[in-house]
Amino acid sequence: MPRNFALRVLFAVFVLSALPALGADSGHKVILLLIDGLRWQDVMRGADPTLMNKENGGVQDVNSLAKRFWREDPIERRAALMPFLWNVVARQGQVYGDRDVNSAMRVENTFHFSYPGYSEMIVGYADPRIDTNQPLPNPNVSVFEWLNTLNPYKNKVAVFGAWDVVRAIVNPVRSKLRVNVGVDPVDFGKKTATQELLNKLKKDVPAPWGTEPYDALTFYSALEYIKADKPRAVWITFGETDEFAHAGRYDQYLDAAYRTDNMLRTLWETLQSMPEYKDKTTLIFSVDHGRGFGLKDWTGHGASIPGADQTWLAILGPRTKPLGVRRNIPEGTTSMIAATVAASLGENWNKQEPKAARPIPDAVEEAAK
Ligand SMILES: [Zn+2]
Repeated sequence: MPRNFALRVLFAVFVLSALPALGADSGHKVILLLIDGLRWQDVMRGADPTLMNKENGGVQDVNSLAKRFWREDPIERRAALMPFLWNVVARQGQVYGDRDVNSAMRVENTFHFSYPGYSEMIVGYADPRIDTNQPLPNPNVSVFEWLNTLNPYKNKVAVFGAWDVVRAIVNPVRSKLRVNVGVDPVDFGKKTATQELLNKLKKDVPAPWGTEPYDALTFYSALEYIKADKPRAVWITFGETDEFAHAGRYDQYLDAAYRTDNMLRTLWETLQSMPEYKDKTTLIFSVDHGRGFGLKDWTGHGASIPGADQTWLAILGPRTKPLGVRRNIPEGTTSMIAATVAASLGENWNKQEPKAARPIPDAVEEAAK
């Protein structure tokens, strides 16, 4: 009888531990991509004619830039700058933050620069202690750190940041997340020939901004990891748009936005070609802050620059209705992104982190669980 009893207990423990996992895991995946400091004005209206010149935009070849990105019709103009966003995401998914149609997004933090914005996006709330871009370990737990503790996602969560401060923002000493930043070689996952080549390029190609490489190196490292290791949740951050804007180069800033859009397309098409990801992956694109809207202050951001709190977001995936550009909706915030990331997997970040903002209303359908 005691032996029988022990077996019964063991059986009950087995059933109880297996049931929630079977019921909860939908097999969904999510990729969050942060494009540093790309203004909603350029995304929603296309290239800005007041900056497409030498005086305000530092443009070197005005005619060639106009040929690439100027169209009289604003709908064609924005699609010339970001064709994947406007021809695919805006038709099959949703776009937030077009203030011209009463759809606003903003950061909740009061600083309007990168670390506070990056952190707000992944933890779900603004923390007034996060008031610097210095690489101090983030005291706050992110949605990615939490996902990595759950069975279906354990060691299937990764972070790729062009900016090396991203390492501190996800605090791998505590979070145990797989993280690759700047020009560091990718030191986790399968060692494929492509990943080894990318590691060599990061070492041997001069980095344009200290330890920050061009976005393509970060992007292809992440893409190769996704192809080889099939993670469930990935956060990728790009830096070029912010760097070129600070340098006052509107031409290079637009070219970076265009390249970013093309990498988003490559990512989406690659995912749709893989059975592990096809029709069960959500992509979310957003920014960490806005920038000024004037002829001079478009290059900068921060608490003293009007408009630097204004952001935007785009989302595409099987749980997102094709509502296109959202109009006449309540203001959204960057802090809503963390819970939206979880909701796209069918998980509830608000239950775990009561300080976090709720998911963006209507961005992701209520999960079936
Ligand atoms: Zn910046």
